[in-house]
Amino acid sequence: MAERLSFPFIKNYIYDLFKIRLNNNAILKPLMFGYYITFKCNFHCSYCTYANENIINNFNEELETEEIFNLLKIIRKSCPNLYITGGEPLLREDIIEVLKECKKLKFKMVSLISNMSVFHKNMGILDYLDNLSVSLDMIESNKYSKIVNTPENIIKKSIENITVCSKLQKEKNFTLTVNFVANDQTIPHAKDVLNFCLKNSIRFTIGPEIQNNGRVNEKIKNNLQYKELLKDVIKLRKSNKLILGSKLYHKTISDLLPFRCYPLLTPRIYPNGNFLYPCEPLKNIGVNMLKMGSYEKALKKAIHEGGPIPKCKDRCYKNCYVEPSNFLRYPFKTFSEYL
Ligand code: SF4
Ligand code: SF4
Repeated sequence: MAERLSFPFIKNYIYDLFKIRLNNNAILKPLMFGYYITFKCNFHCSYCTYANENIINNFNEELETEEIFNLLKIIRKSCPNLYITGGEPLLREDIIEVLKECKKLKFKMVSLISNMSVFHKNMGILDYLDNLSVSLDMIESNKYSKIVNTPENIIKKSIENITVCSKLQKEKNFTLTVNFVANDQTIPHAKDVLNFCLKNSIRFTIGPEIQNNGRVNEKIKNNLQYKELLKDVIKLRKSNKLILGSKLYHKTISDLLPFRCYPLLTPRIYPNGNFLYPCEPLKNIGVNMLKMGSYEKALKKAIHEGGPIPKCKDRCYKNCYVEPSNFLRYPFKTFSEYL
């Protein structure tokens, strides 16, 4: 991670570090933007918060390529780091052009999240990415196929693509990360996924299944297998840099410890260009970034209409919410583990 740090990122981070100590204000500068480029997906994961009709019907409008370029310009002015997610981003035919534009705009860190089913048709993306994050919850394709409600041949192709991709990391200068979603069905398969990652030099992250409202799946609470799994992950993390996440992160998601969430550290933009306020799970207000012309103006309007950020303590146990918050509140404890 240290090699990916940039001056604009450090500037925003230091600003935030002082701001939360001086006035405990949650209106912070962004460390990374999340852009949901599409909600279309060829998987139908049982735990997906986006592959449901409410989201598909209400938020299916997508930007044209030129509009995306404008959106990227706006984002870049406020933040040097971006991840592109979905849905399945590789279903956008213009995905390589979008990533080329990110390069042109000199983003310092660009990440993409994919299920890898059509990666073999889009291998050119590797020339423009710093990190590729992939979903993988089981290695046994016949069982995984039932969890993601997707034909087994597509699952096999995804896993094959992940393996191919893992071998290109050095040559193409990017990192490959597996995101493992823990629920009662996937937990028994976690070790297989972990071993697969270690064998193929793939980084591994784990998070509990989160529902639409940001709450943890009830079956995870007090699940002893889940707690045991995280104990093992914490142990392994000490000696293996492929396991991502600080000890505090793993303890927080294991025991569902309260944490102060700062959602504006990673603002989310929906496929229609709307910035979600106060955060993506609550999505009380959507302000269009293209219409406003800057993130700062969009944020000002959102605060005016939506009021302050809620002080949540027991929701959204995801790496992208818990870890940035830990970085700010306990910088020495958490950051040092990544250096
Ligand atoms: S691959 Fe991702 S976006 Fe697609 S259904 Fe599964 S969780 Fe949802
Ligand atoms: S925990 Fe954070 S992201 Fe989740 S609902 Fe609360 S403010 Fe939003």
